[in-house]
Amino acid sequence: MKIQSIRGMNDILPEQSATWQYLEHTLAEVMAAYAYREIRLPILEQSELFKRSIGSVTDIVEKEMYSFEDRNGDNLSLRPEGTAGCVRACIQQGLLHNQTQRLWYQGPMFRHERPQKGRLRQFHQLGVEAFGFAGPEIDAELLILTARLWRQLGVDQALTLQINSLGEAADRARYREALTEYLGDRHEQLDEDSQRRLQSNPLRILDSKNPATQALLKDAPTLDQYIDAPSQAHFAKLRALLDAAGVRYQINPRLVRGLDYYSKTVFEWVTDALGAQGTVCAGGRYDGLVEQIGGKPCTGVGFGLGMERLLLLLDALDAVPDSVGRQIDVYLVAVGDVAAQASTTAEQLRSAFPGLRVEQHCAGGSFKAQLKKADKSGAQIAVILGEDECASGNFGIKYLREKRAQETVGQDRLIGSLATIFG
Ligand code: ATP
Ligand code: MG
Repeated sequence: MKIQSIRGMNDILPEQSATWQYLEHTLAEVMAAYAYREIRLPILEQSELFKRSIGSVTDIVEKEMYSFEDRNGDNLSLRPEGTAGCVRACIQQGLLHNQTQRLWYQGPMFRHERPQKGRLRQFHQLGVEAFGFAGPEIDAELLILTARLWRQLGVDQALTLQINSLGEAADRARYREALTEYLGDRHEQLDEDSQRRLQSNPLRILDSKNPATQALLKDAPTLDQYIDAPSQAHFAKLRALLDAAGVRYQINPRLVRGLDYYSKTVFEWVTDALGAQGTVCAGGRYDGLVEQIGGKPCTGVGFGLGMERLLLLLDALDAVPDSVGRQIDVYLVAVGDVAAQASTTAEQLRSAFPGLRVEQHCAGGSFKAQLKKADKSGAQIAVILGEDECASGNFGIKYLREKRAQETVGQDRLIGSLATIFG
């Protein structure tokens, strides 16, 4: 029996990693442009952290976490999302003491879900969090930032922003009562999952995918009728800021998000280009979370962006620039007993042109076989070094991507010739 990878945990192969790097590079650039700084966090945390933050009756904590006892008997979990760990680190390291923070991180998250397109057990998120800003300007900044990211990546046409306000916990408690009463009267019309949620987490019924449940919700009370005046004002100001910035949005009163910790603003960027897994980026405000995890009160707002879903979208829209796939610039063909001279030449090229990607042929073989490899490598040119060339102190330059005759240049002119191509 061959040992296989764990279902839903994918290898990212060399052909794919170039696109990953392109995406990661673009994300880091946009984050820097808004003065967000990177924080790097552990992948394992105490299970208690997630129970206390995400909420013990949420899908994630109830059935999606990878939790286990380690050798000391401590109950640990692979992080299912990044906000809890980020808040934990900020409290522990004193980053929230009389200061604001704009932070981002990126890396794998783990959830035991049914693997399918856009849904994995190990997936990757960009997480962005801002602490200590109470007003809606920062909510707007996060959305303006994501809108820029979509433009930069060429996927803006395919994404729609949905926003909603969840008000404060007390508002939701009153709404929860009203909703429970409404749905309780229609108990037998609910599916099993929703019947269970009616007890544990009735707001989650709002984003049920069941059409019958959705139909039932048409006449249900809506959350916006229960939200207090400060939250209403916060939401109105956010909308005005988005209008002024030219960021278009839809108000979705059913948008509640799956985590317990949100308050006031919640949002999702959705696409219909990916089928069922259409949410590429989601987040909101979580003003109570820092305190809930044991810190002094401090407001927070942030989002998680699913990297695999964004990559699927780039792919679906054919939005990855052609240059991203090219990983080699120069292929050094070395025929015969010329290895020493070949590696000296390769080193000279790498020194003369920082960033130039040079592959030196290392496996022997005929001139013809090596040229075939050079072509397949995607390199722009092949630099040819054979025993004849070596003896006469010359190199061949073969243009692999354009109709142009092969050239022979002397040793002293090789770098000058390449400078006209790569300089
Ligand atoms: P969904 O409704 O699709 O299950 P979610 O509400 O559980 O998403 P969040 O916890 O808000 O998702 O995570 C933020 C983003 O991370 C999602 O919008 C999505 O892009 C991505 N994501 C979440 N779970 C997965 C997964 N299992 N595989 C791949 N990407 C995921
Ligand atoms: Mg989920």
